[in-house]
Amino acid sequence: MVVIKDYDRFLSKRSKARKPSAIRALQPLIALPGMISLGGGLPHPSTFPILDMSFTLTNGDSLTISENEMRRALQYSNTSGLPDLIEWLKQLQIEEHKPKYDFDICIGNGSQDVLSKAFEMLLNEGDSILIEKPAYTGALAFLRPMNLTFVDIETDGNGIIPEKLEEALKNWDESKPRPKAIYTVPIAGNPTGVGVSLERKKRIYELAQEYDFIILEDDPYYYLQFSEQRIPSYFSMDVDGRVLRFDSFSKILSSGIRIGWVSGPKPLVNRIVLHTQAGNLHASGLSQTFALCILRRWGVFGFMEHAKKTAAFYKNKRDIFIESAEKYLNGLAEWNVPTAGMFIWLKLLGIDDSETLIKKKAIEKKVLMVPGFEFFPNNDVTPYVRASYSTATKEEIDEALKRLASLLKDAIAS
Ligand code: PMP
Repeated sequence: MVVIKDYDRFLSKRSKARKPSAIRALQPLIALPGMISLGGGLPHPSTFPILDMSFTLTNGDSLTISENEMRRALQYSNTSGLPDLIEWLKQLQIEEHKPKYDFDICIGNGSQDVLSKAFEMLLNEGDSILIEKPAYTGALAFLRPMNLTFVDIETDGNGIIPEKLEEALKNWDESKPRPKAIYTVPIAGNPTGVGVSLERKKRIYELAQEYDFIILEDDPYYYLQFSEQRIPSYFSMDVDGRVLRFDSFSKILSSGIRIGWVSGPKPLVNRIVLHTQAGNLHASGLSQTFALCILRRWGVFGFMEHAKKTAAFYKNKRDIFIESAEKYLNGLAEWNVPTAGMFIWLKLLGIDDSETLIKKKAIEKKVLMVPGFEFFPNNDVTPYVRASYSTATKEEIDEALKRLASLLKDAIAS
């Protein structure tokens, strides 16, 4: 264990060049008692035509955002997020992950926002990044134009295979820069729907220590695990300060409110705050206040209860999908049963490249799925496809898989 004190070696040139915004630095000072502010560029709140807000939860509970809170919600606020919401999220992290050091949080416009800022903070053009294969397309969409070397690490039904990671690190081509980071979705990998076991996580963390890289733990499906016991996070085992953890309310509260957050060592999170100052100033105050209002009513216990109900909903949808898959796709496709989340990763048998089948023939038959190559960092040809069982009804899932089976039979026969 070596606690990281100086993160300079991990930072991109662009990040090092980012300087705090002079105006943003004044923001926390405005709230000091007795302060007369002639400094900032705050619009006068009396010109905002909104007073307060009431809304109803699906269980019938009525909630109100008071005039006072609304005034704060409608104004510019701290870059890292509303202090009360940060405090609430800190408590959640402490209860759930029991972090081993004093961490910081920066709230983003969804986790994609803080994730992309972390990439920008760490990576120079030409750098190498360790990345699971297959990987979340949203991360690839940001990374692809950065002219990086993707060192893709094979996964199986239990996520990243540590031996493959070790092999890549041991046999490193020294003409390429050593990787500063690994990007992974450890629970319900998007697209695979399966997670990394605790034993594997421990080994992967050891490798991060040995080869000195940061773990970017993108975990929006963490609370959608189907087992009673959630698999502990990398963040919970981090003793060095080498994990940045990304959480999101998108799958449990609302994706439209765009609230996600990064937790991790202060120097790195503070740098993401710098990137936010220069990017979007801060996440929507209204969205943060709205989320805080619900979370305060629930408390951490209520939040966990809601998360459990949400996970149970997706588990039921998973079971429905698997039932139809077994009815129609046996012998035509293979899959690992998802352990969390809303995706399943199907390997089409007797097909080398799923692209034409899925992008053309399936669409003609009115079935939408995502061809596997989209999730491969190096765009490999692949027989895989990603299906989601989230929004389709039982009948629709059954019909879609029936159509897919008929397409596969035709393709194999031709
Ligand atoms: N990471 C992964 C793995 C995702 O699946 C998603 C959402 N599709 C995101 C990040 C982005 O989430 P958010 O809505 O919080 O930006």
